[in-house]
Amino acid sequence: MVKPYVMGIDIGGTNTVFGVVDARGQIIEAGKIKSSSETAELYCAALSVELNNLIEKVGGKDKFNGIGIGAPNGNYYNGTIEDAPNISWAKGRVVPFANMVSAATGLPVALTNDANAAAIGEMTYGVAKGMKNFIMITLGTGVGSGIVVNGELVYGHDGFAGELGHVIVKKDGRACGCGRKGCLEAYTSATGVARTAKELIEKGGTKSLLAKFDINHVTSKDVYDAAEQGDQIAIDIFKETGHILGEAFANFIAFTSPEAIVLFGGLSKAGKYILEPVQESMDEYSLGIFKGKTKLLLSDLPESDAAVLGASALAWEIK
Ligand SMILES: [Zn+2]
Repeated sequence: MVKPYVMGIDIGGTNTVFGVVDARGQIIEAGKIKSSSETAELYCAALSVELNNLIEKVGGKDKFNGIGIGAPNGNYYNGTIEDAPNISWAKGRVVPFANMVSAATGLPVALTNDANAAAIGEMTYGVAKGMKNFIMITLGTGVGSGIVVNGELVYGHDGFAGELGHVIVKKDGRACGCGRKGCLEAYTSATGVARTAKELIEKGGTKSLLAKFDINHVTSKDVYDAAEQGDQIAIDIFKETGHILGEAFANFIAFTSPEAIVLFGGLSKAGKYILEPVQESMDEYSLGIFKGKTKLLLSDLPESDAAVLGASALAWEIK
């Protein structure tokens, strides 16, 4: 029998957001707690109290198909969160989190990496509805990806497939948070954009509107606002970042021939300033047989809901 609800949980670096979602993709109840905790056990206990309250509020666990969780370094096969650097209780250890939540709520739980959850959300409720081949790229503090091929998310042999943010785009380039050099994330994440801003201003952009900011903490929103006022350095920051992204996309396209690449978060809100250079580079560097075939789309899910919807969509797949 089809159950009317699922629960979606998104564990972010700072906050954990969760909600009860119905079959039409409406969030009918929602809540939030801090993600930080001394131990995984304490965190799970605090979260479960909130979850069980929401579950009771809408009629009890019999009304639920299950719980879906999106988390950094979430492993779909094992239901584990593995060495997530931004989550205090999962740093340097493997936490069997799906089992812990299942034990505390009495519901089946599916867990995956946050970018994979976003891809499932786009496929179920968003711009990728009906698509069988697309790549989701999340541009935020980090750069994540979810790869859908033939209608299914690619998890790989170990459950971690789809780390396109850590594809090396510049040999011996910028240091990346992963400990290596030249990753896409080091150029196109929030900090990557701030670093590009710093470089361009130091190279002679002292007249830029951005020069008056604390340059180590310039956000893509600041750059966007400056670009809107015609600031050339701001426009160049998006151009440089967009060209790096587009060239990487041309390579991704050669792997899975996606119908679309869907952008979500941070930089994607810079609209044409980022989309035009991305499109230019995608067109320039794509192999002939792929040219002009892959759409570049922006997620149309409201940012505040997308993470919960994405995680919840995973729970409809629980058999
Ligand atoms: Zn990296």
